[in-house]
Amino acid sequence: MKKIYTKSRRDKKSERLAFLQKYAMSDWLKARQEADEEVSREHEMWCVCRKLCTGLHESSCRQFQNKVNTRTIQKLKHLWKEKPLIFPKILN
Ligand SMILES: [Zn+2]
Repeated sequence: MKKIYTKSRRDKKSERLAFLQKYAMSDWLKARQEADEEVSREHEMWCVCRKLCTGLHESSCRQFQNKVNTRTIQKLKHLWKEKPLIFPKILN
């Protein structure tokens, strides 16, 4: 049986992430810093993963880092509209 391949949301996310890191590194770093602070502020006491939050934990927590990445991509979505030649449409 043939498998029909459709891109999952996760694939699209990692595709966007790769584009950003390749073509907009400084935007990426800046937006990521902001996103990191925001997520950290929203989870003052307990981390995204519900463990006790410390700076050290955040930097090594996959769930926390995932959330920061997702937010960073949201912040930079405008790049796909502004620079369609550099950031081609991510197709389904
Ligand atoms: Zn955590």
